[in-house]
Amino acid sequence: MTFTGQSLIAGQPVAGAGKTTNGFNPATNEPLEPAYTLLTEDQLKTATAAAKEAFPSFSSLDPEAHASFLEAIADNIEAIGDELITRAGQETGLPAARLQGERARTTGQLRLFAGVVRQGDFRGVRIDPALPDRSPLPRADIRQRQIPLGPVAVFGASNFPLAFSTAGGDTASALAAGCPVVFKAHNAHPGTSELVGHAVTKAVRDAGLHPGVFSLIYGPGASIGQALVADPAIKAVGFTGSQAAGIALMKTAAARPEPIPVYAEMSSLNPVFVFQGALEGSAEDIDALAQQYVASVTGSSGQLCTSPSLLFAPAGEAGDKLATAVGRAIAACPGQTMLTEGIASSWNAGTEALGSADGVALIGQGTPGPTRNAPAPTIFGTGVDQFVSNHVLHEEIFGAASLVIRYNSTADLLQAAARIEGQLTASLQLTEADYPAAAPLIPVLEQKVGRILVNGWPTGVEVGHAMVHGGPFPATSDSRTTSVGTLAIKRFLRPVAYQNLPQELLPEALQDANPWHLNRRIDGEVVPAAEKAEAVGATKHY
Ligand code: NAP
Repeated sequence: MTFTGQSLIAGQPVAGAGKTTNGFNPATNEPLEPAYTLLTEDQLKTATAAAKEAFPSFSSLDPEAHASFLEAIADNIEAIGDELITRAGQETGLPAARLQGERARTTGQLRLFAGVVRQGDFRGVRIDPALPDRSPLPRADIRQRQIPLGPVAVFGASNFPLAFSTAGGDTASALAAGCPVVFKAHNAHPGTSELVGHAVTKAVRDAGLHPGVFSLIYGPGASIGQALVADPAIKAVGFTGSQAAGIALMKTAAARPEPIPVYAEMSSLNPVFVFQGALEGSAEDIDALAQQYVASVTGSSGQLCTSPSLLFAPAGEAGDKLATAVGRAIAACPGQTMLTEGIASSWNAGTEALGSADGVALIGQGTPGPTRNAPAPTIFGTGVDQFVSNHVLHEEIFGAASLVIRYNSTADLLQAAARIEGQLTASLQLTEADYPAAAPLIPVLEQKVGRILVNGWPTGVEVGHAMVHGGPFPATSDSRTTSVGTLAIKRFLRPVAYQNLPQELLPEALQDANPWHLNRRIDGEVVPAAEKAEAVGATKHY
């Protein structure tokens, strides 16, 4: 494809009237062609107005047409072929195998949401039939369903140029909910965004949908991103990135005349708690544990929101052996190109600050990679007292760096766990002998994280129905939700109750005839779609 360097507003390429920006190859710091033209605020309004106009028809789409549209986006992304992997690799420095996996995750989650749309439980149909003879007061017929919020602004993440970008999890879940999307491209991968933007636009066109269902815009976050969130047509925001930008967007959204929800996934340290029993195997077992930890810290150059930045290990001989094995394992790791020069320089500043904090010592360090922006992966060590008393040790360092914290007792672990801020994950490495020590930690961690794992590593997030990729602030702006998995659709829905509406005025999802074959909760009881006719006949409320 010939890159246009333009935004795609409601199906049309639009040259921005603002400044221009280029993607950069982070392995060389060389700019990539073409230059992308940045929108002005007036031009942005065309995209938000089109999304608003598209909302009524898109939000009431028949489930089959809706699901097929999501599948067509997945097909169109696959049809781009190697060009997508090549361009994403040039713009991010991520290796082809990682990007191929990410593409599969992206298309897989679009198809998963197509299944969610066909199945229909997300519509949350509840029917409390009328009780005309109830004493002392009759009950009206009350029906509830979930409806989409309206146009959603989505901000692409730097570290997932496909799976958390143009047609990534936020876009897929918003479109599945029935919300048009205005997507603000991340400046680090504009060409990748354009390729996927055309794939989405083609699916919109081929399905005969209103073109305002999707727009891809280029512009600076601090001006155009802010204007997008302030625009009255936008009703919710999906974001992955830094705490600073996420909080800035939360403030803008809250200060609007009509405040809107912001679902921001920001920072996480993902603590791992190693119990004594996990270190009582052979030297090989300890080596294996060290290697798994180091692989989880260094994968994707550590630029994963679930990368384990903290590992708690017991004081004493077994813990010493683990620390030594970690030092050996990290020493064998070359640096890999980071996503941008800016992210590499933040990593350098963060490791410098951590390494010079009181009571922090180097455990081991790899070697710098051969490219630009490929610093040496680094692991530090400290004690639990330093950890609980120094906030510098709680700062996220985005990239391949981690801190091993030595503890003496379960009480130490409980104190440290109580001190950490909200996180996406917490992991426990243990054996059955450790269950009594681990048990009191679980309720503390439940209050702190969105996902608790045993004998696994937090990186590698399954996209499914039960997954939670969320957690209390500052991991996210709203701990009630997840940004990965099918539950992510809930972020873009709200309930509406319909009282005493005649069948002719009810939406299809709530009609007695159940034309969309939805499972329903009738008078509090779950009634599967197949049993509907019988249930309606039995209760005679309709
Ligand atoms: P970022 O700076 O937060 O940028 C993310 C998006 O927000 C970009 O589209 C950016 O626009 C926009 N933006 C920036 N400042 C804004 C503002 N004041 N108002 C509105 N929008 C704004 O994140 P990043 O570039 O991806 O990475 C920077 C740091 O974020 C990393 O070093 C890391 O600490 C953190 N990060 C964390 C995660 C995680 O999952 N925990 C993931 C990625 C990054 P522009 O394109 O114009 O900059």
